[in-house]
Amino acid sequence: MSFPPLPISHPLRDDHLAKLTASNFDVAIIGGGINGACLYHYLKQQGYKTALLEAHDFGSGTSQNSGMMIWGGLLYLQNFDFTTVYQFSRARDYLIKNFPTEVIPKEFHFVHSKNTNRNKYADYLGFVLYWLLSHGTRRFPKFNIMNNTFSFEEGLLTQSDARFTLSWLNRLPQTQSVCVNYFKVNQAQYNASKQCWELEGSDRIFNQSHLVQAKYVVNACGVWSDQFNMKCEIKTNYKHLLSKGVYLNVKITNNDDKATIYEMGQHQDVITYIPWGPIALWGPTETTVNAVEDGFVVNEQDIDFLIEKAKSLDLKTVTRDNIVSTRCGIRPLVVESSYENHGDYTLKISRKHQIEHDRLRPWITIFGGKLSGCTTVADEVTKMLLKKLTPSLPVSDASPFRQNAQTKADYPDVNESMKNEYCYTLDDYLRRRTNMAQWIENSGLGSNEEQLKAVKAICLQLCLGDPFVAEQHFNFYYNAISGKNVYDKI
Ligand SMILES: Cc1cc2nc3c(=O)[nH]c(=O)nc-3n(C[C@H](O)[C@H](O)[C@H](O)COP(=O)(O)OP(=O)(O)OC[C@H]3O[C@@H](n4cnc5c(N)ncnc54)[C@H](O)[C@@H]3O)c2cc1C
Repeated sequence: MSFPPLPISHPLRDDHLAKLTASNFDVAIIGGGINGACLYHYLKQQGYKTALLEAHDFGSGTSQNSGMMIWGGLLYLQNFDFTTVYQFSRARDYLIKNFPTEVIPKEFHFVHSKNTNRNKYADYLGFVLYWLLSHGTRRFPKFNIMNNTFSFEEGLLTQSDARFTLSWLNRLPQTQSVCVNYFKVNQAQYNASKQCWELEGSDRIFNQSHLVQAKYVVNACGVWSDQFNMKCEIKTNYKHLLSKGVYLNVKITNNDDKATIYEMGQHQDVITYIPWGPIALWGPTETTVNAVEDGFVVNEQDIDFLIEKAKSLDLKTVTRDNIVSTRCGIRPLVVESSYENHGDYTLKISRKHQIEHDRLRPWITIFGGKLSGCTTVADEVTKMLLKKLTPSLPVSDASPFRQNAQTKADYPDVNESMKNEYCYTLDDYLRRRTNMAQWIENSGLGSNEEQLKAVKAICLQLCLGDPFVAEQHFNFYYNAISGKNVYDKI
């Protein structure tokens, strides 16, 4: 079985599905990760009638597996890439200023490695330069000479990367735009006489095919965008290099809630300890993979590597016994399509983005991009579109809605999540609407399944009180987390 059984109608989804097939959209965005979701908000604001189509759940690709830092690109200073650092710093400061319940300033500690041949005083000047590149908006960096540590300020997501992605969908009233998860676009064909794209897609909950029409397509499929372009015979000057990254999520046992970056003394790379609720993210790894399918899997080598690194730094909390969960994503790194990888360490490859318009047809592809730069990407695509296509609706004059900060004790009610947040499966609720699947062992069930009863009750609510469907649905989740079923990603 490749998909959790859930043959139940949900009013919000039914409404959006009905509008999806009845309308002719200005723009269809394929892919509901951070790039697609943030762009959806920007286009709605400009009056574009937009459809956002996501094959799985919103944010369930790379956008639910990041380090959750909204950062100014400190590491790129090593390559003297001042423009990129300036742009990322601006984007970070814009998010901190305008979305204060989602992104907060956070002090980070950077531990200088003994194995590097760089002078620590020169490094400190680097931190001051980093601060200057953000126009001095962040706190002035400090250097603690006793323990070779610099402290400086970055941004951090308050709830999670998945919720940050979700937050872009409902900031403005939907008007005539729609966003639909569990809707996979299989093929797109340009109908020259009608001057629109015809997208053939499948609703994966009811296993039904639908046709969606749109004047423009934006391919925001992240690491899947190359294969989607190929399927639709779109040739591009760029492509993605795939870089897998794994974090171990470990229990915080000694009140160590300091966000710390350690220099690895290798490849000029770093490893981070980022507190997040009751756990801390330790990682990430950086490994090139050839296929997307190979990349979303944590293996023993990844775990060994991260545990060894922690041992070498004498970090007592990062042990195998303390692992609560893991996260694993693939960075979409943009390179020219002629690029051949001869074993380059992927940190050396630019983490910028590129936006490419097809030479002949109304089709735009987003390459690369990070959570930190989501508004920059959305702004650039919107400006590109405004030069080519007049929005069919007036510019929105509604003020963007800000979501309330949630704490552990204040999870969204399941019914609210279904009603307002496109939440349909147990995995949606435990992994992306709340952090339970990451904060509680055994994907939310607890190390001795002590949460079983509570999770089953959530499942029953999600299945609208139907005990038969709820049991099937719970069994699917249970088998998936114990490796017996595989969630079919795309
Ligand atoms: C380990 C790691 C740590 C990171 N840490 C940070 C960090 O701290 N800060 C930061 O700013 N960035 C970070 N990043 C980078 C950031 O997470 C990614 O660059 C970003 O999430 C990519 O978003 P996206 O929208 O392009 O892709 P995705 O989130 O992967 O979204 C693409 C979506 O397209 C959908 N899709 C694919 N094909 C189809 C189809 N045919 N039909 C419909 N939908 C389809 C997929 O289901 C998917 O949801 C990190 C990345 C990794 C891997």
